[in-house]
Amino acid sequence: MKACVIHAAEDVRLDARDEAPLGPGEVRLSFAYGGVCGSDIHYAAHGRVGDSVVRDPMILGHEFSATVAETYADVTGLAPGTKVAVNPALPCGACIYCREGRSNLCADMRFMGSAARRPHQAGGFAERPVVMASQCVPLPDAADLRHVALAEPYAVALHAVALAGNISGQVVLITGAGVIGQLLAVAARRAGASEIVMADVVPEALDRAQALGADRVLNSGDSSAVAKFLSETQIHVAFEASGAPQAFNLCTEALRPGGALLQVGFLPAAAPLTMAKLLTRELRVLGTYRFVDEFDEAVRQIVAEEVDLRPVISADMMLDDPGEVFRTAQDKVNTLKVMVHFG
Ligand SMILES: [Zn+2]
Ligand SMILES: [Zn+2]
Repeated sequence: MKACVIHAAEDVRLDARDEAPLGPGEVRLSFAYGGVCGSDIHYAAHGRVGDSVVRDPMILGHEFSATVAETYADVTGLAPGTKVAVNPALPCGACIYCREGRSNLCADMRFMGSAARRPHQAGGFAERPVVMASQCVPLPDAADLRHVALAEPYAVALHAVALAGNISGQVVLITGAGVIGQLLAVAARRAGASEIVMADVVPEALDRAQALGADRVLNSGDSSAVAKFLSETQIHVAFEASGAPQAFNLCTEALRPGGALLQVGFLPAAAPLTMAKLLTRELRVLGTYRFVDEFDEAVRQIVAEEVDLRPVISADMMLDDPGEVFRTAQDKVNTLKVMVHFG
């Protein structure tokens, strides 16, 4: 089978891989659609994401949908041909965090397409990826597998909004108008936010945010626009999805007393953050990481067409030329989500 494999920074290839025999609990899938994530782009460009360094060739990808091709004898309820959403997380189920219902914080997490552990956990961007049956959410025949491939990033947004508490009637600021920012806007809207402001430094990203339903946009690189915004607007809840220290600082400046900042983007290890307002405004600052039950809820909303996330897909590409796929995905000016498939 063909598989999209990272060997090192700027060395992603379409390799031929043998199909291993299935083991207990395993399912072989036929790949349908996959979303290229920021972490895939980071691996492709730098050969690492934070402390997770690619040391051996690894299949990329953790956002994908598929149909069941074959199952091990002990697997039930997943007949060949069944459409599935695939949860890329494989928490251990035994550590204290798993037992507390916070499996996203699992001390022994295996996550598809991640080099955090060695051997690395293979990702899903292969013609016939193998996963555990427990990772598969069976779908009705009519499900749109291209739409379902957005369940993972949407689950990240649902988890962040859940951690914010009740945001009904509140004014929300989202910094970073990329895919996660856009999906946060969808999730915040559903949770009852009264107004959604999106900020970014890329004008094209702000145009897209406006088209996708932000109530207001702010060019955070324009200091006079920012000063005017800060003097006029009181933000209840901010979601920081860019990972830029300046955006974090904009959030703490913009929040009203008692407000909350949810950090969704990866900040650099050493970032100049402005903390003075934390004390005098009693701000809550909370990190939010991946998702727990929100994956199933994301799939449910997508399959029921309660949300339409398809507008965040800016390109559909074949995986035959990974270099071209990652060049396109890296372009923050023109690209939101790149969706891939095999020919
Ligand atoms: Zn992702
Ligand atoms: Zn665990």
